[in-house]
Amino acid sequence: MTETRSRHRFYVPVEVKPGEVISLPGETSRQIRRVLRLSIGDEVTLFNGTGFETVARIIDVSRSHVDVKPVGKTVAGTVPGQPDVHLGLGLLKADRFDLVVQKATELGVRSVTPIECERSVVSLSADRAQSRRARWERISIEALEQSGRADFVKVRDPIRLTDAPEQFRSSRKLVAWEQANGRSLVTSLEQDDSAVDVLVGPEGGFSETEIVQLGAHGFEPVSLGSLILRSETAAICALAMIRAVAEIGRVDRLGGPGGR
Ligand code: SAH
Repeated sequence: MTETRSRHRFYVPVEVKPGEVISLPGETSRQIRRVLRLSIGDEVTLFNGTGFETVARIIDVSRSHVDVKPVGKTVAGTVPGQPDVHLGLGLLKADRFDLVVQKATELGVRSVTPIECERSVVSLSADRAQSRRARWERISIEALEQSGRADFVKVRDPIRLTDAPEQFRSSRKLVAWEQANGRSLVTSLEQDDSAVDVLVGPEGGFSETEIVQLGAHGFEPVSLGSLILRSETAAICALAMIRAVAEIGRVDRLGGPGGR
């Protein structure tokens, strides 16, 4: 682990400029003071979601806030490698969708779009959608802080499945379908795919009509194995499989498992 990676990492919603003091947001300040018990002189890593990060030193700690001052150069942080992965997920009950947002962030997804499908049991009114989205962004930022990732995940507003072709435009488009007749997600990917869209259905699954309609727009139905997974498991599994294929491609290109 490099020195930078071992420091506590915090997201700040502002541009980080050399030498310019930043007052950390309330919740971050509270965590630094009360939970981590850091004090003046300690160093932290700041990132603002653009893929870069900066080391900063704590210069003031009070009951209401913690101030930090950048001391290092702004450097490129860790971001997921290719492919760019975009997840569309049938709306689920709150805690299940929360779980997927957290895990998808750790697995390097670029965007998450909640989708209302024919068999969705959850639907979101516009104002509830706003508050859920804000919650998902918070969850995702916490996962960025924890995982060492320096770039944002885009959490999009919920869409209807019929609007998916409009929104998902990667060159590789997949839809996880438990009846895909053994056509595995793994064999559907090319190791050098640069962008992949993957859709996962709600608890009730996709209807056949939906699969046919998606197929007409270039979404290929793919299997995640012979067992039926819950939506949240299916989403996490699909993302891990996409990463695995990309990883194999990388190892191959570098000349075998020993290559670097
Ligand atoms: N209710 C459906 C299953 C839905 S599972 C039934 O009982 O038949 C929820 C979602 O997870 C599905 O829409 C699909 O996108 C995904 N999924 C679950 N298991 C899968 C598998 N083995 N292969 C591909 N997709 C799967």
